[in-house]
Amino acid sequence: MKTSKLATRTVAGVDIGGTKVTFILWSGDAIAHRVVLPYGARSSREFSALILKGMGDLCLRAKGAGTSIMGTGIGCAGMVDQKSGVLLFPPNMPGVRDVALADIVSGATGAPAYLENDANCALFAEWVSGVAVGHRNVVMFSVGTGVGGALITDGHLYVGCHGFAGEIGHLPMVERGLKCGCGRHGCLETVASGTGIERYVTSALARGSKSLMMMEDAKSARTISQFAHNGDLLAQQAFKRAARYLGRAAAALINTLDPDMVVLGGGVAESGLLMDEMKRVAQRRSLPLLFEDIEFAMAHYRNDAGAVGAALLADQLLQGKTVYSA
Ligand SMILES: [Zn+2]
Repeated sequence: MKTSKLATRTVAGVDIGGTKVTFILWSGDAIAHRVVLPYGARSSREFSALILKGMGDLCLRAKGAGTSIMGTGIGCAGMVDQKSGVLLFPPNMPGVRDVALADIVSGATGAPAYLENDANCALFAEWVSGVAVGHRNVVMFSVGTGVGGALITDGHLYVGCHGFAGEIGHLPMVERGLKCGCGRHGCLETVASGTGIERYVTSALARGSKSLMMMEDAKSARTISQFAHNGDLLAQQAFKRAARYLGRAAAALINTLDPDMVVLGGGVAESGLLMDEMKRVAQRRSLPLLFEDIEFAMAHYRNDAGAVGAALLADQLLQGKTVYSA
């Protein structure tokens, strides 16, 4: 029967984060099953074992549902080689490098596997089934521990000449700024990420700034956001400052790419404390014609964005669709 055939179209999505790995089965436009494993690997071998454990669970689930995994998308932070499916040197994952991830997953499922940067996956999720459906030129900011980014241009995922495009977090923003994880100074990420917000509050408290926050509170952007919502001026200032930098970066991208939508996602953005100021600054610093009719939207997918986007990416590549810009 036609309907049962549709229902059994199943792909898998994997999102590898610094603290956990999320595995999902995607079937009938929804998450059919989810496994979350804590990330505890200290070597490439342990990392591979972790991935195989999660994939083994998904395979069993699929089998139990009378289907099998047709393909898998894998999203991971940092530099990934899409063509070879090799995870090169992920940040925040010491001891793990040069892992042939696509081959490992494909060996476990007997089906194709594709590797992609996690921020690209998150935007892909929004573009295929989230807030950016129908838009042809989209810029996404993912603000969490760091700042990730991704671009859709002319209806395709834009990955650039080395496959690394969209590293918005490393836009140079501050003259003589703080050192960034990438080794350079003053990147957007140093001032607009959760870590940047925490660092700003920590140093303000150390200088004796007035606030109800204690040093301990400054260790978590989430805690700082709660103080901001309760009226703490320093906490509000910390988010406002981050949002201003995001607005400047957005203006730079708007003036460069002329997008029809800017999407803001990530755990720190979910505080609701970044969007208004970001948009205000972006408007002030963009060319007026380019700002006309542009939409700013909060991401639809939250914790599952990377895994859902990876699964959707695999699904479209399997169907032979042109996902990437030529
Ligand atoms: Zn950087």
